[in-house]
Amino acid sequence: MRSPEMFSLQGKTALVTGAAGGIGFDMAVALGEAGAKIAFNCRNEEHMKNALAKYAEYGISAEGYIGDVTDEARMIEIVHEIEEKNGGLDILVNNAGIQRRYPMTEFPTEVYREVIDIDLIAPFMIAKAVLPGMIERRSGKIINVCSMQTQVGRETIAAYASAKGGLGMLTKNIASEFGKYNIQCNGIGPGYIATDMTSALREPAPDGTPNPFNEFICARTPAARWGLPDDLKGPIVFLASPASDFVNGHILYVDGGILAYFGKVPS
Ligand code: NAP
Repeated sequence: MRSPEMFSLQGKTALVTGAAGGIGFDMAVALGEAGAKIAFNCRNEEHMKNALAKYAEYGISAEGYIGDVTDEARMIEIVHEIEEKNGGLDILVNNAGIQRRYPMTEFPTEVYREVIDIDLIAPFMIAKAVLPGMIERRSGKIINVCSMQTQVGRETIAAYASAKGGLGMLTKNIASEFGKYNIQCNGIGPGYIATDMTSALREPAPDGTPNPFNEFICARTPAARWGLPDDLKGPIVFLASPASDFVNGHILYVDGGILAYFGKVPS
């Protein structure tokens, strides 16, 4: 296969969960621009209508479904509907996710469970729903949206780090169990990307004082900036395309080099 063709997703169908907005939307646009038909789910009719209009602006053919990723029966229904409409589902991107921040000793257990349900158990359930079709067709790509917290911890995010750490191992396990059917399961690990999820970490105080976390990230990242949703587009297309057919169980960090860097000595 020649190199431009290797990155083509022509004739493929992709389900990107939670892709009405945020980085899911941008990754879905990248897959659509590479030729894939896009399906996405979200929880809210209004979000779905707005997202369908935004996909159309990009000239991307997208199908929207209402469904919460923690509702296993509904997600199975959605997967089957996509398979029937499109003759199969080739690419799953487990993107939907939430973050909740509390000091560990004050972390409400029910909130910890909510994060684990959405960020870890849902990707497992949805992968379980798409795998039979992929096994039958002897082809498939599952991409789990991991995080730097798949590797490193930080204050206040015990639930998220537990979920994303687990998602990294689920990724390797799916690769181990289903590689023989020509199914590749990899993770994409965004660094600190400027989206709604991270706006509280970037915005200055009402009096204009710079956000210390924003300054910390810029100093800690060799690229000296936050990532942009566009930075994820090339990596997601690579992981969804034949170019990555012998890449399995890998987590591709898209973090401007932050995980490689020990940090500056304070002056
Ligand atoms: P975001 O802007 O908050 O988007 C998250 C999306 O997930 C929303 O569209 C949301 O839909 C959807 N979602 C949440 N819970 C859901 C549920 N139960 N069922 C269905 N959809 C649900 O966040 P983002 O920054 O784009 O994050 C997307 C993914 O990237 C997450 O897995 C996150 O952990 C990961 N990530 C982000 C960063 C970053 O810096 N932004 C870094 C590393 C990893 P609703 O509109 O229905 O709420």
